[in-house]
Amino acid sequence: SSIPKIVILGAGYGGVLTSLRLQKELNYNEADVTLVNKHDYHYITTHLHMPAAGTDNPENARVNISKLIDEFKIDFVKSTVVQIRPQDRKVILEDGTLSYDYLIIGLGGEPETFGIPGLGEHAMNIRSINSVRLIREHIEYQFARFKREPHRTDYLTFVVGGAGFTGIEFIGELADRIPELCKQFDVDPSLVKIINIEAAPTALPGFDPELVEYAMQVLQKKGVTFRIGTAIKECTPDGVVVGDGEEIKSQTVIWTGGVRGNRLIEEAGFETMRGRVKVDEFLRAPGHENVYILGDNSLVFNPEGRPYPPTAQMAMQQGVNCAHNLVASIRNQPLKSYSFSNKGTVASLGKGEAIGVAFGKKYKGRMAAWLKKAIDIRYLFIIGGIPLVLRKGKFL
Ligand code: FAD
Ligand code: NAD
Repeated sequence: SSIPKIVILGAGYGGVLTSLRLQKELNYNEADVTLVNKHDYHYITTHLHMPAAGTDNPENARVNISKLIDEFKIDFVKSTVVQIRPQDRKVILEDGTLSYDYLIIGLGGEPETFGIPGLGEHAMNIRSINSVRLIREHIEYQFARFKREPHRTDYLTFVVGGAGFTGIEFIGELADRIPELCKQFDVDPSLVKIINIEAAPTALPGFDPELVEYAMQVLQKKGVTFRIGTAIKECTPDGVVVGDGEEIKSQTVIWTGGVRGNRLIEEAGFETMRGRVKVDEFLRAPGHENVYILGDNSLVFNPEGRPYPPTAQMAMQQGVNCAHNLVASIRNQPLKSYSFSNKGTVASLGKGEAIGVAFGKKYKGRMAAWLKKAIDIRYLFIIGGIPLVLRKGKFL
């Protein structure tokens, strides 16, 4: 019989970990593995809040895929997936077609706008290298514009919609960046506003209340204004409308209000909830024994029946499990079921400040910031070994 074809869509946390494991575990000529990604680089999503605010260079948040995978063992195709056809076992790319015996979907999520008018058109998102370069340049441009039109204080109002971890990490960096921009553009810092708007009754809903309180204090001291229990209802070219009709004028709205699965998955006919597939215990799409779904596109439930939040940590663990199951399938061995092992959560609040829960303990301040760095360096080590840690580690 012919060699089974494995196609992996997306070189994010899930896709890269699957690829790295497969290239290690598969024997020569046991399978044909192809990895498809829009760009020829992998981006370190967990670092994107920094280049978005301009506290770091976008270069430090990406790694060339050729530095990660062994191209003698895995074919890398730089292309954009436009359609998935599970009935025909084919994937349509912008410039070709691939057929597969096993498909791994790790295309990452998309911003969830909940149908709020104007968010898709007028707000920016922290998602990719391209999106953070845009945010960074946009913010600088507002300072330049203000110098020409000093009555337009809305140029200096920065609205962040959603106080989840993405929003909180971003405002931590932005608050660090503002004083530098004020110096560079000769702007009075008291004119600048960072407003974080959160619909839930608390920032970081569901996280440890004591740490949430600490985070808010740190960020308020840096000049952030919180509007908690206030929902964004609309986004316009002039700002946002919140609560019962109040308008906040701003030329910069960053939407960090949530993620959903990739639209290609529902378009392919898989059953989804907010674009995510409730996978079986082996991470396969129900009814499709040869399709694995990873990361932000998968929905995994905890023993209490509530979905786990989609994280890089989860996507990485799934990648390892998925590779194991692919090898087992090919060798006619039993599959291993997946269960999430939570190592903790650490979020940065800007330079030298963070909060987190890890190893069953709470951390805040310098210790937490150090832990965050250690987690980021560990990731570089996992995907690229010591050479990658040496090249990129110093920037984290
Ligand atoms: P992704 O990592 O999003 O990768 C998807 C890949 O698919 C990308 O390479 C993309 O270019 C490619 N792709 C997309 N569409 C196409 C297409 N049509 N054709 C071809 N290729 C395509 N999680 C944590 O656990 N810890 C953290 O500290 C943390 N920090 C975060 C900070 C920020 C600012 C953000 C935004 C998220 C953070 N997360 C964190 C969440 C985490 O980044 C995601 O859960 C994780 O990236 C999901 O991995 P994935 O493999 O599903 O997809
Ligand atoms: P999220 O869904 O976790 O948070 C979105 C927030 O926006 C919520 O608090 C929600 O109440 C709020 N919101 C929704 N609609 C709103 C509205 N109309 N007006 C105002 N607020 C509104 O999304 P996220 O922060 O992007 O995180 C996505 C995933 O990535 C999560 O699983 C998160 O845990 C993970 N992540 C982890 C880290 C970390 O571990 N350091 C960092 C970033 C993201």
